[in-house]
Amino acid sequence: MAEKKILIVEDEISIAELERDYLELSGFSVDLEADGDKGLRTALEGDYDLIILDIMLPGADGFEICRRVREVKDTPILMVTAKKEDIDKIRGLGLGADDYITKPFSPSELVARVKAHLSRYERLTGSEKNRNDIIEIRGLKIDKTARRVWVDGAEKQFTTKEFDLLTFLAEHPNHVFTKEELFREIWDMDSIGDIATVTVHIKKIREKIEYNTAKPQYIETIWGVGYRFKV
Ligand code: CA
Repeated sequence: MAEKKILIVEDEISIAELERDYLELSGFSVDLEADGDKGLRTALEGDYDLIILDIMLPGADGFEICRRVREVKDTPILMVTAKKEDIDKIRGLGLGADDYITKPFSPSELVARVKAHLSRYERLTGSEKNRNDIIEIRGLKIDKTARRVWVDGAEKQFTTKEFDLLTFLAEHPNHVFTKEELFREIWDMDSIGDIATVTVHIKKIREKIEYNTAKPQYIETIWGVGYRFKV
């Protein structure tokens, strides 16, 4: 099994480092963020198996980070709090946090909770193999098995060829493909059409996944060559 990746967002460095040290001793790979805004960005862009969130943070607080991550990901989230009011809020708001732990806590309790949530998540999502059928890049989520696509949590409809083209590009990030290569890959050799078909499909995909089609953040045009999926 691959090493599990955990993100800790915690502004008290001594607590963050203690959590990290214990988790690393238990075989996890750990990233730390001490600021809420940076923590939110890292949580959305990174590929973590579990997120440990402090509530009081500079920038975005733990509640906001939890809510925003939940809009696009189902990564297990463990909230850390020192206040009883926070516990009521975690329970009451339907933020989607999987659990909370109150300060002060023992590091071994934290490790036990983390392990419990990871194995529960694996049971819910099925085998490692199934998880590979999901591609998640920033706000874009592609379920290859169900052939469904979400952009920032909202499902978008794609034609068969649009889906195939998007998925092919997303599976080969940062690789530049010519229009000819993409046409050969997605359409049959004998099919009627030409490389202009690729351009048309890229345009339609961009309209569904990009915030600003003039400045695409996912599918980039490499002038005179073709396209690449930016990561
Ligand atoms: Ca704090």
